[in-house]
Amino acid sequence: MKKRYIMIIASVLVMGGFALIMTNSQLENNPNTSTISRSTKETQSNIDKDNYFIKEYYTSKYARVKKTTWDRINVKDNEHSAEEFLNVEDYLDGVPEYIKKDVIKTIGDRINVKGSGYDTAEEFLDEVDYYVEAIAKYIKRENWKDIYKERHGENFDSVITFSFTSKRSYAFYNTLEIHLNIRAFKTNLSVTPHEITHLIAPYSSSLSLSEGLACLIQDRLGKQPTLFHYRESLFPLSKQFLEEENKDFVEGMIEAIGVPTEDIPSNVMSGINGDKTTRIAFYLMSQSYSTYLIDEYGIEKFMEVYYAEDLYAKYEEIYEKDIEELRQQWIDYVMEYKADN
Ligand SMILES: [Zn+2]
Repeated sequence: MKKRYIMIIASVLVMGGFALIMTNSQLENNPNTSTISRSTKETQSNIDKDNYFIKEYYTSKYARVKKTTWDRINVKDNEHSAEEFLNVEDYLDGVPEYIKKDVIKTIGDRINVKGSGYDTAEEFLDEVDYYVEAIAKYIKRENWKDIYKERHGENFDSVITFSFTSKRSYAFYNTLEIHLNIRAFKTNLSVTPHEITHLIAPYSSSLSLSEGLACLIQDRLGKQPTLFHYRESLFPLSKQFLEEENKDFVEGMIEAIGVPTEDIPSNVMSGINGDKTTRIAFYLMSQSYSTYLIDEYGIEKFMEVYYAEDLYAKYEEIYEKDIEELRQQWIDYVMEYKADN
């Protein structure tokens, strides 16, 4: 196998990861409900538009955040530590035993941060710019804006707007918005690269592949620590999931991995949206499967199936294997995986 990256302390099991924390934590009750005024009127000149954004937003090459929003977060005065934020008891409620061990290790050994990690909006936006270019390069989609222009016209405003929410972090394709969970952000546990990946690689027919890719990117390019696992432990964790005693942990989970969104078993789908345990398993296994495909066959092939309209046919065209064969191959790999190889 290819040598795993040893990079910046990285990774995070996604928005899903935070979702479960958010639900149980006492959150700051200030979801950002402001809408973005976007000048779509053809009569409005670019000069007016530029002036508007200069006044209202901190901006960078690829992104912006409203000044009033940023100033309200007040990152400099933040006193929350990651441990406080995670609130171990809440966090572990409903998390499977085999993941708990890793989480405790993670919290104990790795997470030791205070504050957001940014003194200014400029620092944050500079990092965003770095992620946008690094992610686009990694997945070989430097022309990622074209997808939006095809859908929305040449004048589509392809600047990413950041705001904050008390709910789980998410990305919204149609207006290129990313909403980051505020407490995760304030404790330097944000899943910024994960959400940026969704915007740079939007509209996949497979939730499993799109979450798998976003988690992998967070792992490999993100600076923030993961909550569930680190790169080194992804396959061992998947293995524990696959082992006999865990197989029935979430019924239908294996059938949900790597398939088009509409073919995810309904109990798994509703679990992803509501139940912490199912959500963790789905994100973790999707990342494991996607990581296997990318490391074994390369990112180009993966991105081809990622965008396939007929995913099953594309698997056979690209990998010359059907979904069952590919999944079995991945499972065999995971079962034989040795942590130090
Ligand atoms: Zn996601």
